[in-house]
Amino acid sequence: SLSSRLGTVFDKLRGRGALSEADVSEAMREVRIALLEADVALPVVKDFVAKVKERAVGQEVIKSITPGQMVVKIVHDVLVDTLGADDEDSAINLRAAPPVPILMVGLQGSGKTTTSGKLALRLRTRERKKVMVASLDVYRPAAQKQLEVVAGQAEVVSLPIVPGQMPVEIARRAMDEARRGGFDVVILDTAGRLHIDQELMDEVAQVRDAVRPAETLLVTDAMIGQDAVNLAREFNEKIGITGIVLTRVDGDARGGAALSMRAITGKPIKLLGMGEKLDQLEGFHADRIAGRILGMGDVVSLVEKAAATFEAEEAEKMAAKLLDGKFDMDDMLSQLRQIQKMGDIKGILGMLPGIGKMQKQLDAAKIDDKMIKRQEAIILSMTKKERRTPELLKASRKKRVAEGSGTTVQEVNKLLKQHQQMADVMKRMKKMGGKKGLMGAMS
Ligand code: GDP
Ligand code: MG
Repeated sequence: SLSSRLGTVFDKLRGRGALSEADVSEAMREVRIALLEADVALPVVKDFVAKVKERAVGQEVIKSITPGQMVVKIVHDVLVDTLGADDEDSAINLRAAPPVPILMVGLQGSGKTTTSGKLALRLRTRERKKVMVASLDVYRPAAQKQLEVVAGQAEVVSLPIVPGQMPVEIARRAMDEARRGGFDVVILDTAGRLHIDQELMDEVAQVRDAVRPAETLLVTDAMIGQDAVNLAREFNEKIGITGIVLTRVDGDARGGAALSMRAITGKPIKLLGMGEKLDQLEGFHADRIAGRILGMGDVVSLVEKAAATFEAEEAEKMAAKLLDGKFDMDDMLSQLRQIQKMGDIKGILGMLPGIGKMQKQLDAAKIDDKMIKRQEAIILSMTKKERRTPELLKASRKKRVAEGSGTTVQEVNKLLKQHQQMADVMKRMKKMGGKKGLMGAMS
């Protein structure tokens, strides 16, 4: 698996601080192979690796995990980001005047008819929608019948078959019938071809123009592999898809097609087909597919646990500081940096005892990244001596610091006051005495 491979690559740099360009480049060779093995398309792999590299170089390795695991974590995070699809994104869009048309497109055998039935069932049972399905597959005699059977199992209405009608006519008839019958949703199941061809695209485009679907879902077999890019690009450019459904995710496919299609079209993966049965349709979860692509089992949870340990270690260090009752500007600086690094101000503040009240003040002061950057600049403009003994900062020095940091004396004053408040808390904690009292206050 990717994690064991990276383990080998990184064994030699165990214990070093940050990931260097050379280390990362070597690791990226392994990442590239892992992605290609998972059938991610080549151009997508290239972009992806560049993104990971950018994020990984210079990254501090969390104590208590190996650099290899650190890279796997970064790869996983970039993968989840790229796969995207927050809940909002992956929900089926029904925000249109009913009946809302949903167009199912894709190659023959990709699972369009089955997915039409699955989606109908899902919308009927979960969203309490009145659903009609209609088959536009006029080329294979059995196809329309197949949808009828599936609709029966899903307990939704199937548009009656009228022999001799063309796909666009059927689509229009479906919309008319649905309007008359007070249906909420009409799922239009189109014909596929074995390969993309102009005739197929023209036909689907005509249907699209006739009904203006709220969703055009590209249904694709997860096994499609390297062809995913062409397929997704063609359908997106010629038809304009709004989402992707990956089928046969219950099979051996590693799911690389998901990454390829998402990266090429920018369109969300909305649903996953997990079997032949109609209830085997699931929402999309980026982290599940990411784990599958990387074949890395529970490395991610391992890394997350390590990150939590790391936070605990930092909190202990801070606690030791508190026992000293000391808190100078350098301490404040390292705290500001940590806040930035972890990106969660409340989490850090929560680690400090007796800070609840101040946290409210800080909330009120609307701490944000920009403000932290300014505060950092102020402290960096102080001399070493000033940082250790902030009392030295009288009017002229404050002016110098403000100018040096591109801020104002007012801001310098505010920071000094904030520091004073924090230092006071530290002193009070010391008076409360003992590690016992401290830990009590922290929990
Ligand atoms: P269409 O030609 O695109 O309409 O594809 P069909 O819906 O007729 O599906 C083709 C075959 O794939 C059928 O035998 C389905 O039962 C099967 N199939 C569809 N979706 C899935 C899935 O998610 N998992 C599995 N294992 N089989 C599926
Ligand atoms: Mg079909």
